[in-house]
Amino acid sequence: MSRCLAERAIDHVVLERGAVANSWRTERWDSLRLLTPNWQSRLPGFGYDGDDPDGYRTVPEVIEFIDRYARAISAPVQTGTAVTSVRGADDGYLVATDQGDWSCRTVVLATGACNIPDVPAVVASLPPGIVPLTPMQYRNPRQLPEGGVLVVGASATGTQIAAEIQRSGRPVILAVGEHIRAPRLYRGRDIQWWMDAAGVLDERYDAMDDIDRARRVPSLQLTGSPERATLDLNALTAMGVRLAGRLAGISNGTAQFSGALRNLCALSDLKMNRLLDAIDAWAAANGVDGTVEPPHRFAPTAVEDSPPLTLDLARIRTVIWATGFRPDYSWLHVPVLDRKGRIRHDGGVVASPGLYVMGLQFLRRRKSALIDGAGDDARDLSGHLATYLAGR
Ligand SMILES: Cc1cc2nc3c(=O)[nH]c(=O)nc-3n(C[C@H](O)[C@H](O)[C@H](O)COP(=O)(O)OP(=O)(O)OC[C@H]3O[C@@H](n4cnc5c(N)ncnc54)[C@H](O)[C@@H]3O)c2cc1C
Repeated sequence: MSRCLAERAIDHVVLERGAVANSWRTERWDSLRLLTPNWQSRLPGFGYDGDDPDGYRTVPEVIEFIDRYARAISAPVQTGTAVTSVRGADDGYLVATDQGDWSCRTVVLATGACNIPDVPAVVASLPPGIVPLTPMQYRNPRQLPEGGVLVVGASATGTQIAAEIQRSGRPVILAVGEHIRAPRLYRGRDIQWWMDAAGVLDERYDAMDDIDRARRVPSLQLTGSPERATLDLNALTAMGVRLAGRLAGISNGTAQFSGALRNLCALSDLKMNRLLDAIDAWAAANGVDGTVEPPHRFAPTAVEDSPPLTLDLARIRTVIWATGFRPDYSWLHVPVLDRKGRIRHDGGVVASPGLYVMGLQFLRRRKSALIDGAGDDARDLSGHLATYLAGR
């Protein structure tokens, strides 16, 4: 956004509570790599220039990339400046920070979609002695006590952490709710390549039948690894991870799981195959067929005959809540939040003149919450912002 505002000669400042790329410096586990390939992190006027376009950045590489971008565009970032409140004022907004106040006519909220781990209330029923950890607190398996681990949530975060902990020798049981299965490679190409090329990631928010639902779809079960390996439930089962249904409750030291695991997995297989069908149709229609491997399908998700419905938590030493994240708007004192605390906006144009938001799930496009989605959204929203300023 800073780059797009600069292009339009709009005077601005970027306030950051930590250092540039703070979330990558402070909120990620050690082994994380981007699940998007290197070529896919495209920012306005800036892209990947290394010799491994199909690789996946480590966290230090992501930090270096964002840092280098901030310097390349001379972004006017004021680091170490935490915004403590944003309020409406006569001529725009009053932004209070721990380093003094700012008055401005417009504000772009780019504080991220993943500030707070969304831990279900059932955490309060965990027996004493079990360590609860969020993905923001988790760094590596060495920090866990020896013994069983329950990982709750089987999207990108849960599957990656479950695999790593299982490999460390601690037996993992994974509670699986709604999830989106995806192969790392399909027909010899990265699944992200297909979704990018076929336009899936560019699908717009105003073309969706149910954008609320589309915004709640969990992340793809993907991981970035040098082997470009698929990390679906079959891969986890092969490693020895045990699958259970959605965590439904905890009482008297026993966890209860939903009995719908088989149905959830069948639904996820179905949706994956629909995506692969769409990819095949696009490849056939666009002359790509001859350049890639022939279409094929993956084995259905294997679910044991009687997945566990209960688990005696005496066998568990750690619970990892990989149940998603939500934004933090505790400092936003403008009446733009709905009953559930979500910000009301139309493709990033917030329901208060001169206020904008970026980086949220499916904000304007399916890719909006990816690094690669920021550029197009910033171009659109900076255009709206410029028109708003000109009209005042
Ligand atoms: C575990 C995980 C893995 C991910 N993997 C990928 C991936 O593989 N590929 C991909 O493209 N995307 C990935 N993402 C999404 C990724 O976070 C975004 O693409 C990208 O970081 C979003 O950038 P952002 O600037 O919108 O938000 P953030 O990176 O969250 O940045 C928000 C910034 O705002 C600052 N901030 C927040 N509140 C305040 C305040 N009150 N005052 C001042 N500053 C504040 C924060 O310190 C932070 O630096 C992942 C996200 C998570 C959580």
